[in-house]
Amino acid sequence: MRAMILDEARTTLRLDTTKHVREPGPREVLLRVHACGVCRTDLHIVDGELTDPKLPLVPGHEIVATVEVCGADVETLQPGMRVGVPWLGWTCGVCDYCRSGRENLCDRAKFTGYQIDGGYAEYTTADERFCFPISERFSDQDAAPLMCAGLIGYRALRFAGDAKRLGLYGFGAAAHIAAQLARHRGQEVFAFTKPGDAAGQAFARNLGAGWAGGSHVAPPEKLDAALIFAPVGALVPAALAATGKGGIVVCAGIHMSDIPAFPYAILWEERIIRSVANLTRADGEEFLAVAGKANVRTTTVPFALADANIALDKLRSGDIEGAAVLLP
Ligand SMILES: [Zn+2]
Ligand SMILES: [Zn+2]
Repeated sequence: MRAMILDEARTTLRLDTTKHVREPGPREVLLRVHACGVCRTDLHIVDGELTDPKLPLVPGHEIVATVEVCGADVETLQPGMRVGVPWLGWTCGVCDYCRSGRENLCDRAKFTGYQIDGGYAEYTTADERFCFPISERFSDQDAAPLMCAGLIGYRALRFAGDAKRLGLYGFGAAAHIAAQLARHRGQEVFAFTKPGDAAGQAFARNLGAGWAGGSHVAPPEKLDAALIFAPVGALVPAALAATGKGGIVVCAGIHMSDIPAFPYAILWEERIIRSVANLTRADGEEFLAVAGKANVRTTTVPFALADANIALDKLRSGDIEGAAVLLP
């Protein structure tokens, strides 16, 4: 089969036309990949900012695929079913985190496209317990970004509580979905982009943001919560300064540049900073149901599998409106 391979961090992906897909184990399925989203986390892996990938690696953890072959003990899936495969690829089930509903923090978790070969390929193998059925309302290409950008945005949004005024810092794949969920919940959305990114600000307004501006600009009203999707530590004090008393700042990315020192006064008055790590399967089930009810529409830019490096470069330089999706 054809697959894009990372041999070493800080190199470009290599097209391999003779790669063999791993045979499914007893609880695993062999999947034919139809679409795989390109996530900023993939960039962090390729760029060596996430330091624990299996190598060589097939990246990709926003997979939409159909089941071709089921392992001997597969219970819930059958050949021909369409499923989504997210970042969380395996958990131990027995650690304190797994046993307390926090499998996203599992000590021994394995992640798709990081410790398990992912979806930048024509075929892949996944544990059936970590596959989600996908509603027919979404095409393969449109469903792909739901698998991580949508899911992580949903988990971050939950941690923002019932914020009336919600700020979104970095208006890419995750924020463009989170904005629609927030509007569906009746929240006001304030979108922050790179300074001067008029196209990004117009994109945000089209998706329901009542205000959009550069990340260096104070919003017209104090925010109740802010979600930071851009991997820029300087946005943490910026977002704190933009929130009112009791405000919540949620860092939703897996990697961020260092957070600069800031005066205690902008954290004072019970403001909270927290991060969001990974997802649980319960998040996935809830989110996919909510995305259908909220009639979420994703904006995607398609790329051929062999153009994965081009897609990653465009994501790095901020040239993607919405989400990049590979179509193997
Ligand atoms: Zn565990
Ligand atoms: Zn991701």
